[in-house]
Amino acid sequence: MMNGPVEPFKIKMVEHVGMPDEKRRKEAIKEAGYNTFLLKSEDVFIDLLTDSGTSAMSDYQWSGMLLGDEAYAGARNFYNLEKAIQDILGYKYIVPTHQGRGAEHLMYSHLVKPGQIVPRNMYFTTSKLHVELPGGKMVDMIIDEAHDPENEHPFKGNVDLKKLQKYIDDYGLDKIAFVSVEQDVNMAGGQPVSMENLRKLREFCNDYKLKIIYDATRSSENAYFIREREKGYENTPIIEILREMMGYSDGCIYSAKKDCLVNIGGFLATNDKDIFEATRNMVVVYEGLHTYGGMAGRDMEAVARGLREGTKYEYLKYRIHQVRYLGDMLREVNVPIVKPIGGHAVFLDAVKFLPHLEREQWPAQTLAAAIYEDSAVRSMERGAISKGRDKETGENLFPALELVRLTIPRRVYTNSHMEYTAESIIRLYEKRNTIPGLKMIYEPEYLRFFQARFEKLSL
Ligand SMILES: *Cc1c(COP(=O)(O)O)cnc(C)c1O
Repeated sequence: MMNGPVEPFKIKMVEHVGMPDEKRRKEAIKEAGYNTFLLKSEDVFIDLLTDSGTSAMSDYQWSGMLLGDEAYAGARNFYNLEKAIQDILGYKYIVPTHQGRGAEHLMYSHLVKPGQIVPRNMYFTTSKLHVELPGGKMVDMIIDEAHDPENEHPFKGNVDLKKLQKYIDDYGLDKIAFVSVEQDVNMAGGQPVSMENLRKLREFCNDYKLKIIYDATRSSENAYFIREREKGYENTPIIEILREMMGYSDGCIYSAKKDCLVNIGGFLATNDKDIFEATRNMVVVYEGLHTYGGMAGRDMEAVARGLREGTKYEYLKYRIHQVRYLGDMLREVNVPIVKPIGGHAVFLDAVKFLPHLEREQWPAQTLAAAIYEDSAVRSMERGAISKGRDKETGENLFPALELVRLTIPRRVYTNSHMEYTAESIIRLYEKRNTIPGLKMIYEPEYLRFFQARFEKLSL
């Protein structure tokens, strides 16, 4: 008897997906240099590479796209977007960008001076880079529990204020550009931050007059976890939770490609007039006019509608539970995954899955390639290849978490797709000691995980 979550929608249009045979799967992954980013989408059956820009839009969003006002300046859809952000997140000022990294670029290049540090609960790839480009450095301040895949702490995304205090003591207050907090921390396994933690961080930062800028990309999914797990929020509407969360910050950057249920878009939002004016000045240099920032009018309409839809409780409940459904199937048979199961993805613990491999044989990269070879399911490495090298020493960094991410696109796959995926991973787990590691043979300078190439070693 199926006990998966029930989808709160019905399907109006379908897209055919092909299933490459074993011979083609082996060729395809080899041609891709054993990097799932380099596979052609055509060779993929179930695409769990990312939840970024892969959502299925609703009929309401699609109909909004026909109402795109493609005026160069002052398009009506910009004002709809501005209103949606003000209503749901509560910020006064917004600057639209083509996607999240556009917002990171504007925000971080304004706030970071050479030699400064940016403490953040945990780094994200593009965020780390956009702090480094203006000469800064991102340092982690997440609670220790987050580094232990077995630890069931309900809010593993929380900031450890003792660590933040230590950065202030060690570096001096003027070396801290701002404090960055990501919600539903991606690299920790989609782990939420509690309201209590956000509130305490605000009080702490007030004492030092430090600015707090969120990476609010997955704030709606984080809000769901607050409602599910934090005392006092059991019956609070998601929008109220979001507005309280955002109220403890000075602004945020936001990739709309996740919780806003669209294929492209982003923005930054703030209550700080100086940040707003500086970033609005720069948006015209890098993105586009301040009333479109790299998005078409129709894209802004889809973001505005998606932001509202993505905060509906029934939708979020289905969303979080579909991810949990996949995770629970693996957990039941002791496949090593990060616990508790996160908001947007199930993360496999590749070091435990493939204990016979050295870290330099890239266990997570290896496992992602092996899953593709077995079932044409595409996942992604989130470990040492993603983390990159130390900026000063040039050495490879080996983060405690060496993970494979099975990221579930929103409203795209059915629960039987989840079952197919679980079966493949369980099958591989049973023959895990027959899986050889990889050797990196090409390494690009920036964000190497996107384009690095590998060769299969022999066992
Ligand atoms: C995706 C993402 C970004 C970058 O956004 P893009 O839209 O991909 O440029 C930044 N932060 C987090 C947490 C993300 O998940």
